[in-house]
Amino acid sequence: MELFYRSTRNENIMLTASEAVLKGLSGEGGLFVPEYIPALDVPLAKLADMDYQETAYTVMKQFFTDFTEEELLRCIRLAYDEKFDTKDIAPLVKVDGTYYLELFHGPTIAFKDMALSILPHLMTTAAKKHHVTDEIVILTATSGDTGKAALAGFADVKGTRIIVFYPKGGVSEVQRLQMVTQKGENTAVVALHGNFDEAQNGVKEMFEDAKLKEELQKAGFRLSSANSINIGRLVPQIVYYVYAYGCLLKQGEIQEGEAVNVVVPTGNFGNILAAYFAKQMGLPIAKLVCASNENKVLFDFFQTGTYDKNREFILTESPSMDILISSNLERLIYLISERNASKNRELMKELKEKGRYGITPEMKAKLADFAAGYASEEEMRQAIRETYERTGYVMDTHTAVAAAVYHAYREDCGDQTKTIIASTASPYKFAGSVLNAVCPGKYEGRDGAALAEELSRLSGTKIPKAVEEIKNARILHTRECDANEMEETVKEILGLDQEK
Ligand SMILES: *Cc1c(COP(=O)(O)O)cnc(C)c1O
Repeated sequence: MELFYRSTRNENIMLTASEAVLKGLSGEGGLFVPEYIPALDVPLAKLADMDYQETAYTVMKQFFTDFTEEELLRCIRLAYDEKFDTKDIAPLVKVDGTYYLELFHGPTIAFKDMALSILPHLMTTAAKKHHVTDEIVILTATSGDTGKAALAGFADVKGTRIIVFYPKGGVSEVQRLQMVTQKGENTAVVALHGNFDEAQNGVKEMFEDAKLKEELQKAGFRLSSANSINIGRLVPQIVYYVYAYGCLLKQGEIQEGEAVNVVVPTGNFGNILAAYFAKQMGLPIAKLVCASNENKVLFDFFQTGTYDKNREFILTESPSMDILISSNLERLIYLISERNASKNRELMKELKEKGRYGITPEMKAKLADFAAGYASEEEMRQAIRETYERTGYVMDTHTAVAAAVYHAYREDCGDQTKTIIASTASPYKFAGSVLNAVCPGKYEGRDGAALAEELSRLSGTKIPKAVEEIKNARILHTRECDANEMEETVKEILGLDQEK
């Protein structure tokens, strides 16, 4: 049966999966949501026998119903290959009785690779399907990890261009270097004088700008998004939760049907929403624990039912979670409003105009699957240090936010359910912060290479290729712009400004 996608802001819009992948965001600013969430169509026991690629096909074929089997298998094959440094793609590691789902074994050593290694292939397949001849221009705002993962995924993919905006000073040194050294004729990287929300808003505004769209179309371009609002990212993220459950069965850690908790370090709400979708598909998940850093807008939302972004934006050592507008939350709002697009539209309008909105008690009652917590910087560091001292396992700062929140959650409510923590970045990506958590002050002033070596010694793991590579790479991107110059900058990059 064909599964269609609806906009969260306009009940009259209905697209196929491939159309939704191509479009990214709906014209009026809505996000695409499948008309219903399909039930997993294999018995749970069978998951134990599937490798990552087979699991990916099993999940994705139920959501991307207008792709052929051959097309999907090809996309999966091209995405989950030797780019990943382990055959498991997403290994599940047991530490101290908790299961860390390591989503950082791809080319940029953070979890965005899980979806961004397949999105370009889904997109070019969809373009072919619809005889699109325009060049697809990927516009992306990044808080650090999306940018590089998208650049790596789209670099030199024929028929595409990619432009990435990152907040200058708002990403780690490794993240910045990874981006500005990106090769590929079709890539552009811009440092924005502003924070992530400004970058994201600027990109959103360009998508909603009909005049810009027309101008671009005339020049043979068509905008699309690689941000986590694209359904082509959300669906591939469901896969690893299903895969992790299969691993637990295979390793004899759980009984078939036994429910497990999932804890997710959250920023834009994409990763945890994918876990929610996995649960809706019938995967036995008990609680979905949403972990925030000091930018705890989501924690407050789950406590009070009011989403309020009017607060100070805090730069933390888990920068990929430094977000005050979690775009993917809109999909959850839409779902808990009984798919009421006009109610959702009204709330999103309030968010845009007043920076806040409140949900109804009926809607709030539908959030019982979620628990939420947040960790201070010190609690995050403590989670890294204590886990290392107890077990020798070293985790990154984002994963540590989740670990800290989970420890507090278990202490608070005594929930002994087996638990998966989504481990979203390699500690090498944030080596300075991680080492400082383990031994405060000891490594101050060391350069990136020295930090990586020290981390390797401490953790007994090999330095990932992604870190080795940036050591001697040339800086290829130096462009900067103000928040109000984003559109101009895009036109300049695409060569539109010369046509007047
Ligand atoms: C993007 C990112 C997150 C947040 O994920 P969302 O899907 O935006 O909630 C957490 N950790 C790392 C390392 C990330 O790159």
